[in-house]
Amino acid sequence: MLDLLRKIVQEVNAAADLTAVLELIVQRVQRAMRTQVCSVYLLDEEQHFCLMATQGLNPEAIGRVKLPPGKGIVGLVAERAEPINLEDATVHPAYRLLENTGEEKFHAFLGVPVIHQRAVLGVLVVQQQDKRRFDAGEEAFLVTLSAQLAGVIAHAEATGAVIRSAQNSRKDQDRLFAGVSAAQGVAIGRAVVIAPPADLRAVPDKVARDIEAELAHFSQALASVRHDIKVVGRSLSRHLRSEEQALFDVYLRMLDDNALAGEIESRIRQGSWAQGALRDVIQEHVRMFSAMEDPYLRERASDIRDLGRRILAYLQQASPVELQFHDNTILIAEELSPAMLGEVPTDRLVGLVSVHGSGNSHAAILARSMGIPTVMGVVDLPYTRLDGRELILDGYGGRLFINPSDDLSEAYREILRGEELVAAELATLKDLPARTLDGYQMPLWVNTGLVADVVRSLERGAEGIGLYRTEIPFMIRDFFPSEQEQTETYRRQLSAFHPRPVTMRTLDIGGDKALPYFPIEEENPFLGWRGIRVTLDHPEIFLVQVRAMLRAMEGLNNLRIMLPMVTSVHEVEGALKMIDQAVAELQEEGLELQRPPVGVMIEVPAAVYQVRRFARRVDFISVGSNDLTQYLLAVDRNNPRVAGLYAAYHPSVLRALEHIAREAHKENVTVSICGEVAADPAGALLLMAMGYDVLSMNATNLPRIKSAIRKVTLQQARQLHRQIRGMDDADRIQQLLHSSLNEWGLGSLSRPDSPVV
Ligand code: PEP
Ligand code: MG
Repeated sequence: MLDLLRKIVQEVNAAADLTAVLELIVQRVQRAMRTQVCSVYLLDEEQHFCLMATQGLNPEAIGRVKLPPGKGIVGLVAERAEPINLEDATVHPAYRLLENTGEEKFHAFLGVPVIHQRAVLGVLVVQQQDKRRFDAGEEAFLVTLSAQLAGVIAHAEATGAVIRSAQNSRKDQDRLFAGVSAAQGVAIGRAVVIAPPADLRAVPDKVARDIEAELAHFSQALASVRHDIKVVGRSLSRHLRSEEQALFDVYLRMLDDNALAGEIESRIRQGSWAQGALRDVIQEHVRMFSAMEDPYLRERASDIRDLGRRILAYLQQASPVELQFHDNTILIAEELSPAMLGEVPTDRLVGLVSVHGSGNSHAAILARSMGIPTVMGVVDLPYTRLDGRELILDGYGGRLFINPSDDLSEAYREILRGEELVAAELATLKDLPARTLDGYQMPLWVNTGLVADVVRSLERGAEGIGLYRTEIPFMIRDFFPSEQEQTETYRRQLSAFHPRPVTMRTLDIGGDKALPYFPIEEENPFLGWRGIRVTLDHPEIFLVQVRAMLRAMEGLNNLRIMLPMVTSVHEVEGALKMIDQAVAELQEEGLELQRPPVGVMIEVPAAVYQVRRFARRVDFISVGSNDLTQYLLAVDRNNPRVAGLYAAYHPSVLRALEHIAREAHKENVTVSICGEVAADPAGALLLMAMGYDVLSMNATNLPRIKSAIRKVTLQQARQLHRQIRGMDDADRIQQLLHSSLNEWGLGSLSRPDSPVV
């Protein structure tokens, strides 16, 4: 059964479009379950369940039969969002004879809902003439299949809509794709898609600019692949039996002019660029082979896919795509990375979209620090079809609109105008203190990492750096930077901010932060080799970095060193020992310096309960609430599927934050916070009420936070905190924060209401 399931899913996955997907489903299910009817109903724009494909009912009824939710047994399955299995559907009170379908003769009925991201997309139905209940095995089969196919159907539907909307049809205007808000703001612009290398599925549609040149590229790539296959075939010839050897001949024949190559060339002649022609022809052949009954022939689908990938790699090598940036570029990538952010001239970049990742991924954090509206985790986005298309990105609501109507564009332009007004007002605060109406002053520091952060932070009146993410300069290189290079980089931060304090975090890699030259492959990277765990295992990396920081500090003395991802006291002691060693080495060299203040980040639940022990050994404590939230709530900060569960104001998170501040103060050690919650006006007010000594945040949001603090009294913030301490639901807490901020006139600092679509 499992094999059969897998085969159906594989085949459906390879289907060309929604119609083919649905036809395959009904054919395969009908055959696999030996039923007389299998049909799919999908929810249409009028919110009716429309018969989209059938095997066994009258095909003329396709597209005509429509049921409102709750009507008929199909509607009932959707309404209840659970399977309905009936011996005789015709006697069920909800039964409604579907005219002209020929279904009157079928009695047995099994319908299961097709559910994607909690929404019912449709209903999958099997029917039979006999009066009998489908058995438990049959029901389980259909439920499993439907759960697996829901994503494929959703994706095929979305792709179809995007292709139709390219023809600017009014019907497909304002097509919405939901993701996760990663950086606030609105962008109206044109898409530039960055595709991952050698991935056929990710090749974007493009028209050939020079057909002859495309043909020449293709023929060179083909010759290279032919050559590779011959070399591999020859080198393995002594180890292979003759029938295995023959496979290499099969591959070569597939590449013949009369086979794949001929078809690809003819598509290029019709105007497609070589990579697009290759993608289409390979996918068609993969589909054809995947559908074959014979298991040997079916396996050939993966050979064709492999050949396609090889040719694509050569094509991409020969003509690397020169990305053309529009004046208002919205950059779209499958997986946005810090290196990609560096590829676009920032004066042309107005928005960022990532199919993977979530609001607390590091790419999102960087986007916020650059102040670029960003949506991540748009998992159903057929992004390869979007190059050059007009889009609206709503970074407040985590939404992306394709083919926007004039009305929608105007509504968003209005929000942009409002943003400009707020920005102009905030700019006047630069030299004013973050002081509450009753005179309490809250130090506001910044988080940095990108080169541009320093200027932006100073422009916005930052009083210090609470977190310099040293791994960022490590990530945009091809090898570890030398001690001297690091010294120069760190010196720039220290002197630009002097005499203000600069907190440098030691290398924090692992999790979603990879160095291209130091790959860490792990099943569960967020619970793996991260932060201090890596650097304690590699003293040579740690010592070089600390020495570079110390050298950079000479004569400035405004450095603070911070240790990430600490779980146990012995890690702190091990790191302190190495820092002392580095200090001693440099003193021996004749440098005049002492150990700078060293602090520990509280990011792991185990650390929350050891704050006092850490505090006795170090000079300051800083909370990394991004990781702390992920570990307390067991929600991967990078996974859009559980983004809704990542609740910064969860009662447990708030309790932990309070506890940390109290415990650190018992040891007279200052406690700051550098996680993203400090960059939210509501979060900043709560942290102030909890007694945090410093709030550190991205430079973009600093003026908002200053404005919020200047408009309230400390007493008001404390009162709000007391009220929230008695609450036990994250959503309710969020609502109370929202309404309190509105009441205090701080609504415009959080988010405008998104237009209703
Ligand atoms: C944190 O985890 O809150 C933090 C500041 O570190 P990063 O986001 O870089 O993991
Ligand atoms: Mg962290």
